[in-house]
Amino acid sequence: SIPLGYFGGIGGAAKRGILVKGATFLDTLASVKAIAFDKTGTLTKGVFKVVAIVPHNGFTQAELLCLAAEVEAGSNHPIAQSIRAAYGQPVDASTLSDYTEIAAHGIQARLGQRWVLAGNDRLMHREQIVHNTCHVEGTVVHLAVDQVYVGYVVIADEVKEDAVEAMQALKAAGVEHIMMLTGDSQAVAQRIAKTLGVDSYQAELLPEAKVTAVETLLQRFSKKGTVAFVGDGINDAPVIARADVGIAMGGLGTDAAIETADVVLMTDAPSKVAEAIQIARKTHAIVW
Ligand code: ADP
Ligand code: MG
Repeated sequence: SIPLGYFGGIGGAAKRGILVKGATFLDTLASVKAIAFDKTGTLTKGVFKVVAIVPHNGFTQAELLCLAAEVEAGSNHPIAQSIRAAYGQPVDASTLSDYTEIAAHGIQARLGQRWVLAGNDRLMHREQIVHNTCHVEGTVVHLAVDQVYVGYVVIADEVKEDAVEAMQALKAAGVEHIMMLTGDSQAVAQRIAKTLGVDSYQAELLPEAKVTAVETLLQRFSKKGTVAFVGDGINDAPVIARADVGIAMGGLGTDAAIETADVVLMTDAPSKVAEAIQIARKTHAIVW
């Protein structure tokens, strides 16, 4: 039978917007020693500002932003939301077809008769689009039409209000290692990692590489305690599944990620993770 204290723990957590999907996860949460965090949407805000629109090859800024908004119309990635917010008008997605969203790359779709690509350097290389790699501060979304480079949009990735404090609370709770994992560029990752004071970070990762990074942590901490992964649920369901405790933020996340997760945070605040660990430990103390 399950000791009564566990129900108190799960109920108490639920009252604070932390859904723990079973008593065993209170145990794994209580002994977390290492945590890997996804960056975009998890440690940084879901919707951020477009700070530059740089057209090439005859496009105007307005045309480039409109193109980006139309091709990103069907995506729930934070980048897509940012672009749509910057566009600020209802998006006409009626001509959008043959849509493919490629995790950690971007989007490939047809807009009317034109083939459009929107994504990072990796997507441009993959599709052999000739462009100059620009070294700008921010997350860059390149655009191409019918294999011709038409410019890029820069998005400023900002850390969430409680993120720095959240990292400190985890350290105070005895978490030995905090790692940040991202599909975004090295430059952006380095700046955010420094702001947050995480112990390590890895950038330009494909979803499978995030799984490998968590497996390395699992090995390293196998004798010391458990390993958690926290993601916003966009492109990270596999890594949520792989960690001892998979934590999903409920706000943006896909149904698949929320279903896979062991713990779901109803508010997308990273500080909820330390709170979850503390509740789990208190429950432990009562049960034992
Ligand atoms: P993170 O690991 O930081 O949460 P993702 O793995 O979701 O980020 O995405 C990694 C990178 O892939 C983004 O920084 C972006 O360059 C590119 N990307 C992903 N989805 C999109 C999209 N919808 N539009 C444009 N670029 C995208
Ligand atoms: Mg993400």
